Amino acid sequence: MSHFAHLSAILTGKSREHLTPLPNPLSNKHFLQAPVVKAFLEMQQAAKTTGFNLQPASTYRDFERQALIWNGKFKGERKVHDDQGNPVDLQPLNTWQKCQAILRWSAVAGASRHHWGTEIDIFDPDLLPQGQSLMLEPWEYQTGGYFQQLTNWLLVNSERFGFYFPFMECEGKKIGQEPWHLSYFPLSDQYERLFTAEMLQNAWENEELGGKDCLIAHFDELFRDYLLP
Ligand SMILES: [Zn+2]
Repeated sequence: MSHFAHLSAILTGKSREHLTPLPNPLSNKHFLQAPVVKAFLEMQQAAKTTGFNLQPASTYRDFERQALIWNGKFKGERKVHDDQGNPVDLQPLNTWQKCQAILRWSAVAGASRHHWGTEIDIFDPDLLPQGQSLMLEPWEYQTGGYFQQLTNWLLVNSERFGFYFPFMECEGKKIGQEPWHLSYFPLSDQYERLFTAEMLQNAWENEELGGKDCLIAHFDELFRDYLLP
Protein backbone atom coordinates (compact mmCIF):
# COMPACT_ATOMS: atom_id res chain seq x y z
CA MET A 1 0.00 0.00 0.00
CA SER A 2 1.35 3.45 -0.87
CA HIS A 3 1.94 6.01 1.86
CA PHE A 4 -0.99 8.05 0.57
CA ALA A 5 -3.37 5.06 0.48
CA HIS A 6 -2.27 4.08 3.97
CA LEU A 7 -2.87 7.58 5.32
CA SER A 8 -6.22 7.83 3.50
CA ALA A 9 -7.35 4.58 5.09
CA ILE A 10 -6.47 5.85 8.57
CA LEU A 11 -8.12 9.23 8.09
CA THR A 12 -11.38 7.83 6.68
CA GLY A 13 -11.96 4.98 9.13
CA LYS A 14 -10.91 2.16 6.82
CA SER A 15 -7.92 0.96 8.79
CA ARG A 16 -7.42 -0.53 12.23
CA GLU A 17 -3.69 -1.11 12.06
CA HIS A 18 -2.89 2.19 13.80
CA LEU A 19 -4.81 1.12 16.92
CA THR A 20 -4.09 -0.30 20.36
CA PRO A 21 -6.80 -1.30 22.85
CA LEU A 22 -7.18 0.60 26.09
CA PRO A 23 -6.08 -1.90 28.74
CA ASN A 24 -8.44 -3.92 30.91
CA PRO A 25 -10.15 -3.54 33.28
CA LEU A 26 -10.91 -0.13 31.82
CA SER A 27 -12.52 -1.67 28.78
CA ASN A 28 -11.64 -3.97 25.95
CA LYS A 29 -13.81 -2.23 23.43
CA HIS A 30 -11.96 1.06 23.20
CA PHE A 31 -9.15 1.56 20.72
CA LEU A 32 -6.75 4.46 20.20
CA GLN A 33 -3.27 5.03 18.88
CA ALA A 34 -0.55 3.91 21.31
CA PRO A 35 0.67 7.42 22.27
CA VAL A 36 -2.93 8.47 22.89
CA VAL A 37 -3.57 5.47 25.14
CA LYS A 38 -0.48 6.37 27.17
CA ALA A 39 -1.47 10.06 27.47
CA PHE A 40 -5.06 9.22 28.34
CA LEU A 41 -4.06 6.80 31.11
CA GLU A 42 -1.79 9.46 32.60
CA MET A 43 -4.55 12.04 32.48
CA GLN A 44 -7.00 9.55 33.96
CA GLN A 45 -4.62 8.97 36.86
CA ALA A 46 -4.28 12.71 37.49
CA ALA A 47 -8.07 13.08 37.35
CA LYS A 48 -8.41 10.29 39.88
CA THR A 49 -6.24 12.07 42.44
CA THR A 50 -8.64 15.03 42.13
CA GLY A 51 -11.64 12.77 42.63
CA PHE A 52 -12.84 12.25 39.06
CA ASN A 53 -13.50 8.91 37.45
CA LEU A 54 -12.55 9.91 33.91
CA GLN A 55 -13.80 7.31 31.43
CA PRO A 56 -14.11 7.08 27.65
CA ALA A 57 -17.63 7.03 26.23
CA SER A 58 -16.48 6.71 22.64
CA THR A 59 -13.04 6.42 21.08
CA TYR A 60 -12.18 4.94 17.68
CA ARG A 61 -15.10 4.46 15.33
CA ASP A 62 -14.62 2.93 11.91
CA PHE A 63 -16.31 4.01 8.67
CA GLU A 64 -18.97 1.35 8.95
CA ARG A 65 -19.96 2.37 12.49
CA GLN A 66 -20.07 6.06 11.55
CA ALA A 67 -22.18 5.20 8.48
CA LEU A 68 -24.62 3.29 10.72
CA ILE A 69 -24.99 6.36 12.95
CA TRP A 70 -25.38 8.67 9.96
CA ASN A 71 -27.89 6.46 8.16
CA GLY A 72 -29.87 5.90 11.36
CA LYS A 73 -30.27 9.64 11.77
CA PHE A 74 -30.97 10.18 8.08
CA LYS A 75 -33.78 7.61 8.16
CA GLY A 76 -35.21 9.05 11.38
CA GLU A 77 -34.40 5.90 13.39
CA ARG A 78 -31.95 7.75 15.64
CA LYS A 79 -32.56 11.04 17.41
CA VAL A 80 -31.32 14.20 15.72
CA HIS A 81 -31.22 16.97 18.30
CA ASP A 82 -30.89 20.73 18.33
CA ASP A 83 -28.52 22.77 20.53
CA GLN A 84 -30.86 22.45 23.51
CA GLY A 85 -31.09 18.68 23.14
CA ASN A 86 -34.62 18.76 21.73
CA PRO A 87 -35.44 16.41 18.86
CA VAL A 88 -35.46 17.93 15.38
CA ASP A 89 -38.29 16.93 13.07
CA LEU A 90 -36.59 16.05 9.77
CA GLN A 91 -39.86 15.41 7.94
CA PRO A 92 -40.45 18.91 6.50
CA LEU A 93 -36.80 19.45 5.55
CA ASN A 94 -35.26 19.02 2.12
CA THR A 95 -32.30 16.65 1.78
CA TRP A 96 -29.57 19.26 2.26
CA GLN A 97 -31.37 20.79 5.27
CA LYS A 98 -31.67 17.31 6.70
CA CYS A 99 -27.96 16.66 6.18
CA GLN A 100 -27.13 20.00 7.79
CA ALA A 101 -29.26 19.23 10.85
CA ILE A 102 -27.34 15.97 11.30
CA LEU A 103 -23.95 17.52 10.51
CA ARG A 104 -24.23 19.99 13.36
CA TRP A 105 -23.72 17.16 15.85
CA SER A 106 -22.52 14.19 13.78
CA ALA A 107 -19.79 13.84 11.22
CA VAL A 108 -20.55 12.05 8.01
CA ALA A 109 -18.78 8.69 7.63
CA GLY A 110 -15.25 9.15 6.35
CA ALA A 111 -14.97 12.60 7.89
CA SER A 112 -15.21 11.81 11.59
CA ARG A 113 -12.19 12.64 13.70
CA HIS A 114 -13.04 9.48 15.66
CA HIS A 115 -11.60 7.50 12.73
CA TRP A 116 -8.13 8.78 13.57
CA GLY A 117 -7.56 7.01 16.88
CA THR A 118 -6.75 10.37 18.45
CA GLU A 119 -10.20 11.39 19.71
CA ILE A 120 -12.04 10.52 22.93
CA ASP A 121 -15.51 11.46 24.15
CA ILE A 122 -15.22 11.48 27.93
CA PHE A 123 -17.55 11.39 30.92
CA ASP A 124 -17.56 10.48 34.61
CA PRO A 125 -19.96 7.60 35.39
CA ASP A 126 -19.82 8.49 39.11
CA LEU A 127 -21.26 11.95 38.44
CA LEU A 128 -24.11 10.64 36.31
CA PRO A 129 -27.32 10.59 38.38
CA GLN A 130 -28.85 7.16 39.02
CA GLY A 131 -30.98 6.00 36.14
CA GLN A 132 -29.73 8.78 33.87
CA SER A 133 -28.09 7.60 30.67
CA LEU A 134 -25.29 9.57 29.09
CA MET A 135 -26.62 11.80 26.30
CA LEU A 136 -23.45 13.55 25.08
CA GLU A 137 -25.36 16.81 24.90
CA PRO A 138 -23.90 20.22 25.91
CA TRP A 139 -26.17 20.86 28.92
CA GLU A 140 -24.66 17.87 30.76
CA TYR A 141 -21.19 19.47 30.64
CA GLN A 142 -22.07 23.14 31.01
CA THR A 143 -22.90 25.35 34.00
CA GLY A 144 -25.47 23.57 36.13
CA GLY A 145 -24.84 20.22 34.45
CA TYR A 146 -23.62 17.18 36.35
CA PHE A 147 -20.24 17.18 34.57
CA GLN A 148 -19.53 20.90 35.01
CA GLN A 149 -16.68 20.32 37.50
CA LEU A 150 -15.10 17.73 35.22
CA THR A 151 -15.24 20.18 32.29
CA ASN A 152 -13.54 22.83 34.43
CA TRP A 153 -10.82 20.40 35.46
CA LEU A 154 -10.18 19.34 31.86
CA LEU A 155 -10.09 22.93 30.60
CA VAL A 156 -7.21 23.58 33.01
CA ASN A 157 -5.43 20.22 32.92
CA SER A 158 -5.96 18.36 29.62
CA GLU A 159 -3.36 20.43 27.76
CA ARG A 160 -0.43 19.13 29.77
CA PHE A 161 -1.29 15.60 28.59
CA GLY A 162 -1.50 16.73 24.96
CA PHE A 163 -5.28 17.02 24.75
CA TYR A 164 -7.53 19.89 23.71
CA PHE A 165 -11.19 20.47 22.82
CA PRO A 166 -11.41 20.91 19.03
CA PHE A 167 -15.17 21.53 19.11
CA MET A 168 -15.25 24.22 21.78
CA GLU A 169 -14.52 27.31 19.74
CA CYS A 170 -15.10 26.62 16.08
CA GLU A 171 -15.15 30.18 14.75
CA GLY A 172 -16.92 30.45 11.41
CA LYS A 173 -18.14 26.84 11.50
CA LYS A 174 -21.67 25.51 11.79
CA ILE A 175 -20.75 22.65 14.11
CA GLY A 176 -22.00 22.49 17.69
CA GLN A 177 -19.85 22.83 20.81
CA GLU A 178 -18.74 19.49 22.20
CA PRO A 179 -17.31 19.88 25.70
CA TRP A 180 -16.94 16.08 25.90
CA HIS A 181 -14.74 15.64 22.84
CA LEU A 182 -10.98 15.59 23.48
CA SER A 183 -8.36 15.36 20.79
CA TYR A 184 -4.69 14.38 21.08
CA PHE A 185 -3.08 17.42 19.49
CA PRO A 186 0.39 16.05 18.57
CA LEU A 187 -1.23 13.62 16.11
CA SER A 188 -4.57 15.18 15.24
CA ASP A 189 -3.02 18.50 14.31
CA GLN A 190 -1.07 16.68 11.58
CA TYR A 191 -4.13 14.75 10.42
CA GLU A 192 -6.24 17.89 10.16
CA ARG A 193 -3.76 19.26 7.65
CA LEU A 194 -3.40 16.01 5.70
CA PHE A 195 -7.11 15.23 5.28
CA THR A 196 -8.35 16.11 1.80
CA ALA A 197 -11.62 16.26 -0.13
CA GLU A 198 -10.22 13.64 -2.48
CA MET A 199 -9.72 11.18 0.38
CA LEU A 200 -13.31 11.64 1.49
CA GLN A 201 -14.75 11.22 -2.01
CA ASN A 202 -12.72 8.05 -2.54
CA ALA A 203 -13.93 6.70 0.81
CA TRP A 204 -17.57 7.13 -0.29
CA GLU A 205 -17.17 5.05 -3.45
CA ASN A 206 -19.29 1.90 -3.30
CA GLU A 207 -20.65 2.88 0.13
CA GLU A 208 -24.27 3.37 1.07
CA LEU A 209 -24.75 6.73 2.70
CA GLY A 210 -28.05 8.59 3.17
CA GLY A 211 -28.14 11.75 1.04
CA LYS A 212 -24.84 10.90 -0.67
CA ASP A 213 -25.65 12.63 -3.98
CA CYS A 214 -26.76 15.72 -2.11
CA LEU A 215 -23.61 15.70 0.02
CA ILE A 216 -21.50 15.45 -3.13
CA ALA A 217 -23.42 18.35 -4.66
CA HIS A 218 -22.67 20.43 -1.53
CA PHE A 219 -19.14 19.17 -1.06
CA ASP A 220 -17.49 22.61 -0.79
CA GLU A 221 -20.00 23.75 1.82
CA LEU A 222 -19.53 20.52 3.74
CA PHE A 223 -15.80 21.13 3.93
CA ARG A 224 -16.06 24.84 4.67
CA ASP A 225 -18.80 24.75 7.32
CA TYR A 226 -18.63 21.34 8.95
CA LEU A 227 -14.99 20.21 8.93
CA LEU A 228 -11.99 21.56 10.82
CA PRO A 229 -9.82 23.55 10.37
ZN1 LIG B 1 -16.60 12.95 19.73
